[in-house]
Parts: sequence; C-alpha cells; structure tokens
Amino acid sequence: MLIPHASYTNPEKRIIIISGAGLSAESGISTFRDSDGLWENHKITDVCHEMTWKNNWELVHKFYNDRRVQLASVEPNEAHKTISRIKEKYKDECYVITQNVDDLLERAGVNEVLHLHGNLKKMECISCAHNWDIEYKKFDTETDRCPKCNSKKGVRPSIVFFGGQAPMYNYMHRALEYLENKESVLIIVGTMGNVISFQSLISRETIKGNQVAHHKTVRARTILNNLEENEYFSNDIFDETFYEKATTALPKIEKWLEENY
Ligand code: NAD
Ligand code: ZN
Repeated sequence: MLIPHASYTNPEKRIIIISGAGLSAESGISTFRDSDGLWENHKITDVCHEMTWKNNWELVHKFYNDRRVQLASVEPNEAHKTISRIKEKYKDECYVITQNVDDLLERAGVNEVLHLHGNLKKMECISCAHNWDIEYKKFDTETDRCPKCNSKKGVRPSIVFFGGQAPMYNYMHRALEYLENKESVLIIVGTMGNVISFQSLISRETIKGNQVAHHKTVRARTILNNLEENEYFSNDIFDETFYEKATTALPKIEKWLEENY
C-alpha cells in the first residue's frame, strides 16, 4: 500500500490503524512480552538481528520455518475481522498498518496492509536481490537455493531485523501526516510501543521539577488498545484507552468510529 503524502496545508481526514503482536495473540501467536523479551523462547538477537543472522543462518531459518508452519494452523480472530469491516466501510480513508509479519489481517479480508517489518511468507536473496513467495512452506537449508542465482547462504526470510533498514517506515510517516486534520483518528492496537516509539511520533515531553508530562502534538483523535498500561505510552496523549483484549476492544472502537468519525 503506497500511502500518498497529505496536502501540506489541508490534509484530508483519515483513519489510521497501527497494530502489533497483541492483535494476533488471541489467534495463538505469541507476543514478545509473553515470554519476557524472548520470541518463542529465542533471544531476539539470535534470530532477528542484522548483525547475527548470517552466523546463525541455520537457526534463523529453523525459527522462521516454525513460525510459517504455525501460521498455517491459526485463524484470524474477531479483532482482525473488525479491522476488516472498518477498512471495508471507510475504504481509501482507512490505512491499515502493522508491525506483524503474519497474514491474519489479509486472511480476515483486509485488501491492503502495510507491513512495516516484512512478511513471513516471503523470502529474499541478498546475493541477487530477488524475492519470492514461500507461502507456508519450510525453507530446506540442505537443498533449497535462491531460485534466480542459486545462492544458498544469501537466502533469508523477508523480515526486517533489528539493526536493519525498514523502508516501509516512510509510508507510515506519510500516513501520520494526516493526523494534522482534527477529524482524523489514530488507532494503536496491541503494541508495547518500544520497537517503534509511537509516543514520540505524536507527542512531546515536558519536565517541571520531577513531573514529566506528555502533550499530544497532532490534532487528530487518538485511541490506544493494549492489555495493560506501560511506560512507553502515556494516557495523557490518548482520547480513548481500552485496556482489555483486542477482540473485545475493537468492536467498541468500531462503534466509536460510527458515532464520532
Ligand atoms: P510486543 O510483544 O512487544 O507487545 C505486545 C503488546 O500487545 C503489549 O502491549 C500487550 O499489552 C498487548 N497485548 C497482548 N495481548 C493482547 C490482546 N489479546 N489484546 C490487546 N493487546 C494485547 O509486540 P510489538 O510491540 O508488536 O513488538 C513486537 C515486534 O515483534 C514487532 O515488530 C513484530 O514484528 C514482531 N512480532 C510479530 C508477531 C506477529 O507477526 N504476530 C509476533 C511476535 C512478534
Ligand atoms: Zn539470488
């Protein structure tokens, strides 16, 4: 989804939904937080880092092979389905953006999803820059090769690793330009907000004595849904907060949009 720049002086109103691992938690895919900074019992630095993936090549493939096989066995939940209804209703006025690498939003029917951190069902080759679909299949580290140049060790999952480039962030920043319209709505669902600091993108911090305060710097309405409060999001910068499961929060947010957008 190639989000266009907003008009500088008078951006149109938009609904921007940004999700993280919590959105897919009720489908049975673990978040990071579930396991104390581990992802399915692996250190992020072992399986998801630009500096280590080549040295851990076998492990990296095993890890993402497992994630792909797991993905084939889970289903979109009510929160994905609600986002699909919202997108269907507001169409091009709604941008669906996710940090997730699963395809559950697409399987719930969302036709355009901006994946900030890549896609489990795609592979790429750093030797020749080819990329291809692997669907839910395993990459066999013994026999499989890049289909274009036959490289073995150049093949990696098409996932944005820590320390790597995230070209899709440009489009997220474009989407956030629309928050200058006070009719726009930003909905953040199921993310700790530490991998991407959404708070710093939409607010500024002031410190008076030992009091820290956060002030929203965008004109749009803002909504947060997580299971619980955390240090990366101040309630002060949200018009609505839902600290509960995404499957119960999203239908409430859908209703909120009907009444307020
Ligand atoms: P995180 O694991 O750091 O945080 C999860 C957040 O979701 C927490 O704030 C928690 O309160 C909330 N949450 C958990 N269960 C929830 C539920 N049922 N309903 C509502 N909220 C719930 O996730 P993150 O901030 O997205 O960062 C993790 C990074 O890891 C992302 O960049 C992502 O690419 C990757 N990741 C992806 C997947 C996936 O694709 N499904 C899974 C794990 C990690
Ligand atoms: Zn290649």
